[in-house]
Amino acid sequence: MHDNGTVTTARVDKFQYHDHYDVDGLLSEDHLLARAAVRDWVKKEVTPIIEDYSERAECPTHLFKGLGEIGAYGPSLPTEYGGGGMDEIAYGIIMQELERGDSGIRSMASVQGSLVMYPIYRFGSEEQKRKYLPKLGTGEYIGCFGLTEPDHGSNPSGMLTHYKEDGDHIILNGSKMWITNSPVADLAVVWAKDPEGKIRGVIVEKDTPGFSAPAIHGKLSLRASITGELVFEDCRVPKANILPEVAGLKGPLSCLSKARYGIAWGAIGAALDCYDSALRYSKERIQFDKPIAGFQLTQKKLAEMITEITKAQLLAWRLGALANEGKASPAQISMAKRNNVHMALVCAREARQIHGGMGITNEYPIMRHMMNLETVLTYEGTHDIHLLITGMEVTGINAFK
Ligand SMILES: Cc1cc2nc3c(=O)[nH]c(=O)nc-3n(C[C@H](O)[C@H](O)[C@H](O)COP(=O)(O)OP(=O)(O)OC[C@H]3O[C@@H](n4cnc5c(N)ncnc54)[C@H](O)[C@@H]3O)c2cc1C
Repeated sequence: MHDNGTVTTARVDKFQYHDHYDVDGLLSEDHLLARAAVRDWVKKEVTPIIEDYSERAECPTHLFKGLGEIGAYGPSLPTEYGGGGMDEIAYGIIMQELERGDSGIRSMASVQGSLVMYPIYRFGSEEQKRKYLPKLGTGEYIGCFGLTEPDHGSNPSGMLTHYKEDGDHIILNGSKMWITNSPVADLAVVWAKDPEGKIRGVIVEKDTPGFSAPAIHGKLSLRASITGELVFEDCRVPKANILPEVAGLKGPLSCLSKARYGIAWGAIGAALDCYDSALRYSKERIQFDKPIAGFQLTQKKLAEMITEITKAQLLAWRLGALANEGKASPAQISMAKRNNVHMALVCAREARQIHGGMGITNEYPIMRHMMNLETVLTYEGTHDIHLLITGMEVTGINAFK
């Protein structure tokens, strides 16, 4: 701060951000500016409306363009292909601030950036990149990622969706389940088996005959994010829409690594919002003539929450530093995704208790975060599947099958 009081840096009071280990000291000015910008946007655009949209189970689709404007799609992809040109830590911190608002809003951005733009950028032809990426980067196009099937979730290699060739087209058949953004998407990156049984990525545009994307209703979690199916019935897609540079499960798995990395950071945002609300409430709520923050059992909850948040922040930061060097392994990403999402869910449950009866209402964000985090614990690899990945890493033995 200057002597005249004007702020010249995004560095802030550690208590505002609950930064108890000077994690901000590990961040650059660019990271902090990105965080401040996204945080302001979330406060202005998300916080005032999110409880309402969530309650009505409606996706605030008007935010897709705003997310593009703040650079939430592919923050670490090159700018010439619609990305933000920043590093992996900036990408992480943007996801954290979005999920401080709502896991569903972060999901809108994660899917678009890491599961749609990233595979097109990494495995697409130059023509595909030029055609789709700039419009995805601004939110003019909405994308979705189709891997999971009704009978193949944790085991995507068993997928049934497949295609045969027909001249310069392919004929796609099968269905995908639990696809974020699918009913509102302009295009889907779909993983399907080619005539030889190899998994390939195919870009399917929304008006392609034989393609439909019905919504899934009745979700009690991630209610502000729209989820649907992808159905292909003799769907005729130009061969030119196949991603040419990858075959095999490593295609979708490398996208998932990118998205899981973002979730490892994002979950910290949800945890921080719960902690922040619980801390404030505990100082204001008087029982037995004193603030409940003065009781040891409340302090235990708060102290354990901030301890776990701090450990998660350091894990995410180190993962980000490794990712910046191109060294973050899928197993390291699994460990961080699993730990940080579980940590956030535990924080939400503890925060709910601190809020007493008020904690179950929509006057506070706690129940929404808690319900959202049940999805986050399951999607992009379940809590147990990530544990088995760590187990395989440390023992060298595959316990999946
Ligand atoms: C709201 C939402 C949005 C989603 N968005 C997308 C999306 O955009 N694109 C997409 O492709 N998918 C998406 N998914 C799907 C998600 O990734 C899957 O739900 C997830 O991978 C788990 O698959 P499943 O639900 O079929 O569970 P299953 O695989 O049937 O697992 C059920 C249980 O069995 C356990 N289990 C499975 N195998 C093993 C094993 N070998 N050892 C021990 N335990 C095991 C699991 O851990 C889990 O507890 C989304 C899901 C949800 C809920």
